[in-house]
Amino acid sequence: MLPGRVFNFSAGPSVLPEPVLQKAQEELLVYPGAGASIMEISHRSKVFEKILESAKDSLRKLLNLPRNYSIIFTPGGATLQFSMIAMNFLNGGKADYINTGSWASKAMGEAKKHGEVVEVWSGKGENYRRIPKSEELRLSPDAKYVHFTSNETIQGIEFFEEPEVGDKPLFCDASSDFLSRPIDITKYALIYAGAQKNIGPSGTAVVIIREDLLERVPNGLPSLLDYKVMVENNSLYNTPSTWNIYIISLVLDWVLNSVGGLEKIEEINKKKAQVIYDVIDKYSEFYLGHAEKTSRSRMNITFRLPSESLEKEFLEKATAEGLHGLKGHRSVGGCRASIYNAMPYEGCLALSKFMEDFVKSHG
Ligand SMILES: *Cc1c(COP(=O)(O)O)cnc(C)c1O
Repeated sequence: MLPGRVFNFSAGPSVLPEPVLQKAQEELLVYPGAGASIMEISHRSKVFEKILESAKDSLRKLLNLPRNYSIIFTPGGATLQFSMIAMNFLNGGKADYINTGSWASKAMGEAKKHGEVVEVWSGKGENYRRIPKSEELRLSPDAKYVHFTSNETIQGIEFFEEPEVGDKPLFCDASSDFLSRPIDITKYALIYAGAQKNIGPSGTAVVIIREDLLERVPNGLPSLLDYKVMVENNSLYNTPSTWNIYIISLVLDWVLNSVGGLEKIEEINKKKAQVIYDVIDKYSEFYLGHAEKTSRSRMNITFRLPSESLEKEFLEKATAEGLHGLKGHRSVGGCRASIYNAMPYEGCLALSKFMEDFVKSHG
């Protein structure tokens, strides 16, 4: 770890791979071949075009993306996608939403402004502790799509298998577990992720969309909110956040070439989560894990301590030891360790040791 840097468990914006930050630093003033910073050159230049193509190319390789899927980079993070998917594909009709937690609820809230949203399952009554089984979903025969949130960042629960939705187009908000493990992309009609959790800076989202869907896009949408316009213009209808796309290209290159792909990163992510969940299970009288075991997220680990005053002390001591960003989301309290792709195993090990020591001095 570079001097002065801490283990950053922040939920988002969140940790980025150090080699990526170093490379960006090296290239900040003079990007090779440009004689200027990436931030200072045209988004239509050859240099930037190569960066954009490299990002897309890495994604294609990482996900084994078939030719009939397009990749775009959109402004507004994942939140704008809540609206964009509804404006493009709900459009006065009906869509099914699986309500697994805070982010799924937000997606539904935005979609309701554009049509009928059917909540086909809700975990609210159980305080969002688990992922539903496919048999529990009450799908609508006439839904235009089914939307789910593959990882609930705030509650710390994650789908490890896609919901079965027959021949309905499956849409997914994968903001907080995107590229954390291999997926069968052909099960998805549309998958999107805000960049700030696993692949880059905040304010940009990546969207992967099956091309046949584009035929359904209605006329008259604002150009930047129209998937057809975005795809046809290769994300360059207006000036995109070139800096964000540049950092994303470096992160994707890191996952592909330094880590070695999604099987590899999954293996590492499993180990990382395990070492923390092991402490929660070993001291289950002290650490109260929020998620049911089979739904436990590998990206966001949520837990409480026996009292709020202990939680406060825990967070203060952790920060003092260089373990930052462990406070739970303001809506649920408690603690949360976000351990995205860029969090090294050493960070998780350090946290697990800290947790063990903390119980021993307070348990
Ligand atoms: C963070 C997050 C969002 C919102 O992302 P923004 O970049 O703030 O728009 C949406 N969905 C999930 C699952 C998230 O984790």
